[in-house]
Formats: sequence, C-alpha cells, structure tokens
Amino acid sequence: MNTNLIINGEQIQGVAATFAVINPADESVLVEVPSASVEQVNQAIETATVAFKTWKNTEDSEINSTFLKIAADIRAAKDEIAELITLEQGKTLAMAQFEVEAGASWIEYLTSLEIPVDTIADPSGKTIKVYNRPLGVVASITPWNWPFMIAIWHIFPALKTKNCVVNKPSEFTPLSTIKLVEIINRHVAQGVCSVVLGTGEVGATLSGHPDVAKVTFTGSTRTGQRILSSSVDSLKSVVLELGGNDVGIVLEDADLDRTAQGIFGSAFLNVGQTCAALKRLYVHESIYDELTEKLANIANSQVLGSGLDPEVTFGPIQNKIQYNKVKGLIADAVAQGGKIITAEKNVPEKGYFVAPTLITNVEQGVALVDEEQFGPVLPIVKYSDVAQVIEQTNQSEFGLGGSVWTTDIARGEKIASQMETGTVWINSHSDLSPAAPFGGWKSSGLGFSFGLDGLLLFTHKQAIHISQ
Ligand code: NAD
Repeated sequence: MNTNLIINGEQIQGVAATFAVINPADESVLVEVPSASVEQVNQAIETATVAFKTWKNTEDSEINSTFLKIAADIRAAKDEIAELITLEQGKTLAMAQFEVEAGASWIEYLTSLEIPVDTIADPSGKTIKVYNRPLGVVASITPWNWPFMIAIWHIFPALKTKNCVVNKPSEFTPLSTIKLVEIINRHVAQGVCSVVLGTGEVGATLSGHPDVAKVTFTGSTRTGQRILSSSVDSLKSVVLELGGNDVGIVLEDADLDRTAQGIFGSAFLNVGQTCAALKRLYVHESIYDELTEKLANIANSQVLGSGLDPEVTFGPIQNKIQYNKVKGLIADAVAQGGKIITAEKNVPEKGYFVAPTLITNVEQGVALVDEEQFGPVLPIVKYSDVAQVIEQTNQSEFGLGGSVWTTDIARGEKIASQMETGTVWINSHSDLSPAAPFGGWKSSGLGFSFGLDGLLLFTHKQAIHISQ
C-alpha cells in the first residue's frame, strides 16, 4: 500500500511520527503511515506557489482535456481504488465503486462549466470587464466518510479555476486519496497538486500557513471553527462544509412505499455517515405506524459484514470513536423512554458494527434528536401539526439539508420555503448535484460548493475599467 506524500510531483515518505490506518471491518492495522513534518508541509506549499505562476496561465481547453484524461485513468483504476476505499472506510464494494464512478463523472461535469467574463456598461459610458482570477495556493482538508469523492469535490474546482492545491486527507482514510493525487500527477506539472499526510496537527500547519490563499474544509463544526479563527491573520478565504442534523418531514399524503425506500436510502447511506443524510424523521400521526413498520422491514433485511463480501449490504462504522458515540446515543435514547423497533441482529464479533436501528417514542430534548449522530440510527418523531414541526426543527444549530415527503408538490415547496437549510429535497434526500450550490446555514458551514457559483468561490473578482 502506498503511504507516500506527493510533493512537487514526487513521492516521498513522511519523516514525522507514524499513525495506523485501521480496517473498521476487523480492527486490523492495514498499514502504518509516516506523517509529514512541518518542513515537508512548508515544502508542499512552496512548490505549489512556484507551480501557480505557470498553472494560472493554462488555457481553459487544456485544463478540460487534462480533466478528461484524469477521469479516464480513475475509471481504469476503478477496482483498485474501490478496494482501497472499502478497506480503509468500511463501505461495501458496490458503494465504493459508486464513489469512484461518481467522482469521475463529477470531474467530467466540471469540464462543461465556463468561467465567465462579464461586461458591464457603466452609466458614464465606460466599459467595465469583470474577470474571475485564481487565488493562489488552496489548502484542502478532507474527512473520512467519503474520502475519495470529497477530495475530488475540493481539488478539481480549485484546479479548474487555475489554483494549485495541497490536500490533507483524514488520518483515518488516506489511502484512496494518495491514489487520486498519484493519478492527477500523471497529467499536471510538478507542484500543481500535492498531498501531505498526518493528523489534525498537520491540517492545522497547512491551513494556517500564511502563503495559503484559501482553505476548503469538510468536516466537523469544531474543526471548522478552529480553521476559521486561524484564517484571520492573513485574511484567508475559507469555505467550510460542516456537520448537519437534517430533518425529514413526512406529510399525511406521502406515497409510503416510495417514501420508506427513499428515507432508508438516505438515513443509512454509507451507514449514516453522510453529512447530508436524513438524521431526524418527523412523521404525521395518521401514517406513523404504517411507515415505521415499512422502514423496520427494510432495516431488518440488511446483511452486516465486511464490505468486501458481495452478500453484505451494510458495513461497519468507520472508527471506534464514532462507534462509541453512536452506541452512547442509542443507550441514552433508550434510557429516556425511546423504543427500538428494529430486530436485534448478531453483529460480527470484530469490527465497529451497529445494525441499522430505528427508535420511536423520542422527541426534541433527547440527544439523538438534537445532535448529529453520524451513524446507523434514526429517531422517528410523531407529529400532528406541521407548522409546529417547522418551528421546532428550525431551532437546531444546524442548517445543512431537509426534506418534505408528499404527493402535493406545491405544498411541499411552501413548506420548503419555511425551512432554514441550504438544501431542501422534495421526495428524496441526500442526492447531491454537481450543478446546484450546496452548503449549510448556521453551524453547518460557511460559503457553498458545486455549480458555477461554488466554482467562483475559488476566484477573486477583478474589475477592469476601460475608458477610451
Ligand atoms: P474532523 O473535523 O474531525 O476532521 C476532518 C479533517 O480535519 C481531518 O482531515 C482532520 O485530520 C482535520 N483536522 C482536525 N483538526 C484540525 C485542525 N485543528 N486544523 C486543520 N485540520 C484539522 O471531521 P470528521 O470526523 O473527519 O468528519 C465528520 C464530520 O464531517 C461530520 O460532522 C460530518 O457532518 C462532516 N461532514 C460535512 C460535510 C459537508 O459537506 N457539509 C461532508 C462530509 C462530512
């Protein structure tokens, strides 16, 4: 397994302390990885600064054709990358293959976007041209839930807008990202895209470096706050994609079979470890029993085990800290009167397994409803008045996503307009689009990603006033 840093196009070993990458399906050590030293992080930033002088002048068409070659190489290595993702992250091989395929398609989509130059007619008669200029070196810091995909979401918009990038993947899941940066380096000049490895300390060194112009971060709200405060001295531009506690509201007229499938597919996507997974469900009292029974049937049919086993549909939680957090939230909800309505399952002896768990008889005030569980347990709250649900759920510190499940689309849109979240889905949840802005309100983030608007956040406006 490759455990090298990639700096200035070259693969080198880190020279600082090592950390272990654990297979969450059996708790074995996959590999020990040497971290980057402070000097190595500085070197990555220095070489990116040099590379930027040339990369910023690259033609758009050349960048697009480079992206297409990278996407093709990713597809050619799909099985190898998917296996790395399953080993380090835990998700099923089918889900890992989806992650690789969706990543390649995302890169291809970016080639269809054009960075605009706007011309403004000033009332005085002069012409003003507004360009979107690259910023310089972008530091990208990524989490462990969708390691390959989120690295793509960070790196390619930055490169497309002619910035150079230094990425630091999560210490829990660095392996698929090393492979990604290795592939990128087959097609770009030295220093354009580097990867450094290590824990949060390496992330702090990278994101706080004065020569970094922008930090793009996906992870917990607490780390996002630290990154924001360290950006103050050099006034860095920062995009933060943080935690969520997405609410789903099922109205009395929902199509229950379709809704049950959609809700299970979102709430337990990647074993619930998805930022925009549905994390608290509100169901109208008139359909509560029927829908919860359908959801329990789907949950009970899941097959737990190693993601490498093709029979398995439900892998482990990615790490022990998260496993303990999820177990704690379940125990607390039960202690407060919550009722587990899913069947008890034998889980494999080793590994961080928790069967998909549905809990009824809970409401606001219970930690499982109020906090982000980021794991395979869903609280289901019964309601009678939808206006009250909106009012209550808007009190959350988070505002990433929400959904309304109904056959009355107009009513669904009206309810959506009252929800304080960056995205609202009607009759689905979590299905992100490369074309639409995505970002969180309140403690769920700062700025947004995706679409042309998200791309332009990697640039600075430059207005050129032309007087004849
Ligand atoms: P985390 O904040 O613990 O770690 C994320 C990354 O930050 C890792 O690479 C880590 O090493 C690094 N890091 C830690 N401390 C740092 C510091 N002081 N300075 C710089 N970097 C530092 O988050 P996690 O546990 O890996 O991810 C789970 C969280 O991410 C959940 O809350 C989830 O909702 C959120 N998330 C959000 C989105 C989104 O798009 N909004 C997407 C995926 C995950």
